[in-house]
Amino acid sequence: MKNKNILQEGGHWRNWVGNQDCVAAAKGLPLSEEELCEMVSTATSMDMNVRCSGSGHSFTSVVPTSGLLLSLSEMKGINSIDHEKKRATVAAGTTINELGRHLKENNLSMINQGDIDTQALAGAFSTGTHGTGARLPNLASAIVGMKIVQPNGDILTVDESKPDLLRASRVSLGTLGIISEMTLQLMDSYNLHERIWREDFDACMEMHDELAEKHRHFGFFWCPTEKSRHCYCLPDTSATSKTGRTADVCEMKVMDITDRPPMTAEFEKIAYSSDIYPIEYVPNFHELEYAVPVAHGKDAAKAVRKLILEKYPECYYPLEYRFTSGDDAWLSPFFEQDSVTVSVSGEPGTDYWNFLRDVHTILRGFGARPHWGKLHFLTQKDVEEIYPKINDFKKLRRELDPKGYFLNEHLSQLLK
Ligand SMILES: Cc1cc2nc3c(=O)[nH]c(=O)nc-3n(C[C@H](O)[C@H](O)[C@H](O)COP(=O)(O)OP(=O)(O)OC[C@H]3O[C@@H](n4cnc5c(N)ncnc54)[C@H](O)[C@@H]3O)c2cc1C
Repeated sequence: MKNKNILQEGGHWRNWVGNQDCVAAAKGLPLSEEELCEMVSTATSMDMNVRCSGSGHSFTSVVPTSGLLLSLSEMKGINSIDHEKKRATVAAGTTINELGRHLKENNLSMINQGDIDTQALAGAFSTGTHGTGARLPNLASAIVGMKIVQPNGDILTVDESKPDLLRASRVSLGTLGIISEMTLQLMDSYNLHERIWREDFDACMEMHDELAEKHRHFGFFWCPTEKSRHCYCLPDTSATSKTGRTADVCEMKVMDITDRPPMTAEFEKIAYSSDIYPIEYVPNFHELEYAVPVAHGKDAAKAVRKLILEKYPECYYPLEYRFTSGDDAWLSPFFEQDSVTVSVSGEPGTDYWNFLRDVHTILRGFGARPHWGKLHFLTQKDVEEIYPKINDFKKLRRELDPKGYFLNEHLSQLLK
């Protein structure tokens, strides 16, 4: 007989930006892996679906459920470190920020990070979250092992001895079970030297290849209007602009590993890796982001810029442009494809759908794959077309969870 009391009363959940919500029949806040297993098996024995939220930073419907909604926010911290291999086994509810702090104390660093660090590790990795760097893959590529709770509460251990299972589970949106911990490949602690400045769009395009080649990290925000940079809280680099333009300009950023000690100057900073990566955002945007094969990156950016300037001049959010190298996770947007990511946003409360749909059409024309956690228009047919390993993924998903306990409506449409 299962212990039903282990599940808490259900209730309302909403994501960070407020465009997704659900009313869950039950909630679960496990304090240990054992409790997590018991919660999952209890829920499935009552025929409830089981989903897990990270920090709710996805814009898409990848979390909502009417069944059991878990949060692993009490399952945090480093479980073990292998200093020789530079690997750490980390509880899945640990946030990127918390991991960074632990790693700093242990003279280690994550290989790469994205724009924010508030996501839970399992949440960020499960959607293929990435940073920017032409030779740096997405964050989930650092996963060398995982423990995943199955519908009956058993634990599936994934490691490098089962390479296909590892490739399937690195980016799996919670559909293969609930991740309780992951083992990550890290590197020696490093400081990053960040420099930001402003360029006109054409100048940015001219220096694009060289900056991508020369720097560990390069990315930019194209700002169509003067007020654009405020939407993403970007610093005002006008003092460094060559032409003095304030609209139709690119806010540029490069970062490189340095041996130099921490420092802060105007538009320049050196600090421990995890202290440099994150930037500030406020929940005032609904974002779409697609990964375009790198060879089409500049053309894709030019086409979306033209669309905004000519057809949607009221869309003043920046276009963010970043690099991610290819990897081998079956559902990674970067699967075997070096890519640039192009993102745009709509303003909450306005009807931005025609704009986002037009951007989708342009980017899909360049062979793009959407970020699973950001707004997109993928159909099941698209998923089949753009993910060569989708049938292997679905077969595995059905073997592990034949009754589809770990799916919700959105994911059933795409991955059943
Ligand atoms: C302000 C902002 C900045 C962002 N910056 C970037 C960026 O720089 N780069 C980038 O690529 N993306 C970025 N994103 C997108 C974000 O990284 C992803 O949407 C990420 O998945 C969110 O992580 P989360 O912890 O909030 O997970 P959630 O959104 O809560 O969940 C994401 C998925 O993970 C699953 N999940 C969570 N925990 C578990 C678990 N323990 N086991 C199994 N499945 C689990 C959920 O069910 C869901 O399917 C940004 C989003 C915002 C709002």
